[in-house]
Amino acid sequence: MIATALVAVAAALPLAGTTVHLDAGHNGANGAHPAQINRQVPAGTGGYRKACDTTGTQTGDGRLTESRLTLDIARRLGRRLARLGARVVMTRTTNDGVGPCVNERAAIGNRANADLALSIHADGGPPAGRGFHVIAPLAVRAVRPAIVAPSLRFARQLRARLDGAGLRRSTYIGGGGALVQRSDLGGLNLSHVPKALVELANVRNAADARLLRRTRDRDRIALGLARAVTRTLVP
Ligand SMILES: [Zn+2]
Repeated sequence: MIATALVAVAAALPLAGTTVHLDAGHNGANGAHPAQINRQVPAGTGGYRKACDTTGTQTGDGRLTESRLTLDIARRLGRRLARLGARVVMTRTTNDGVGPCVNERAAIGNRANADLALSIHADGGPPAGRGFHVIAPLAVRAVRPAIVAPSLRFARQLRARLDGAGLRRSTYIGGGGALVQRSDLGGLNLSHVPKALVELANVRNAADARLLRRTRDRDRIALGLARAVTRTLVP
């Protein structure tokens, strides 16, 4: 009976015992603090440095900002992962602060000893371009090159689950593959744990911006991301 009960709990809480770091991109007060946001911080091996953070993108009318969107998606995703048993560590839980810088964003996941970390963004691409893409680290500036392979596996799961959620692949980055590896992102370079970054859609495209405003589409995105995390941690 006890064994049966444990199996039932494991089935209900597939992520029990795991830690997931959710890194909502940017922050609402970044634009008002350019000196803090533009200062250079460590961002990879070999003395590579980059600006602390950026303001993120927004629609032309300012009604949809990336920082608010990414926090909302992180919250929706975090609730789903917590219900599946994961310990969820959030970079931020409000949208009225500054930063943190990209090096601190990586450090949060490292200190939490996360099993997986996900940076959540939306792109400010060419207005005619649509769709999502996923970014994984490269070994060249990674402080822990061992994360490159598992991060790529996570990125592929993200792509598959966002495909499954009915999202369009990027028409302007990744040649239709919706997955690129980059060495210029401090949050990925400095991670000790497998990590990927998702650009959910192009805020600068009117159709994508409409999608990102809809609650049902935000829930669909969060469900797809939750499935990617679960399939990566519990293959
Ligand atoms: Zn961003």
